[in-house]
Amino acid sequence: MRPEIGQLRQAIEQKTRELAGDRERLARIERECHHVWDNPNGVYAPIHHPGYRYEGDPPGTMGVDWRPGGYVEARTEEKWKRTCTSCGKVEETSKPVEKVVRVGGDFGGNRSRY
Ligand SMILES: [Zn+2]
Repeated sequence: MRPEIGQLRQAIEQKTRELAGDRERLARIERECHHVWDNPNGVYAPIHHPGYRYEGDPPGTMGVDWRPGGYVEARTEEKWKRTCTSCGKVEETSKPVEKVVRVGGDFGGNRSRY
């Protein structure tokens, strides 16, 4: 075995240990931070997934496992992001804050009576 191969392995092991240590230190800083969010409710940052067409099995192909082509609809993934101005931690969520709005009295259903 060429000596440089052993050196490479050692260097990779050393860097892996350093990386794990750095990750641990950063996680501790983030855990102990009294986060100051740039925007408490987050900034809307949706991810758009464009629609696409996919090919099925070519015509003339036979068999029970024959698959037709099709189209996957485009969709938008709801996302909100916020960043701590103190430690730089970024949080993401796809769960919105629901706001309840009163529009009138609740008379038990929507039917009209005469
Ligand atoms: Zn923070």
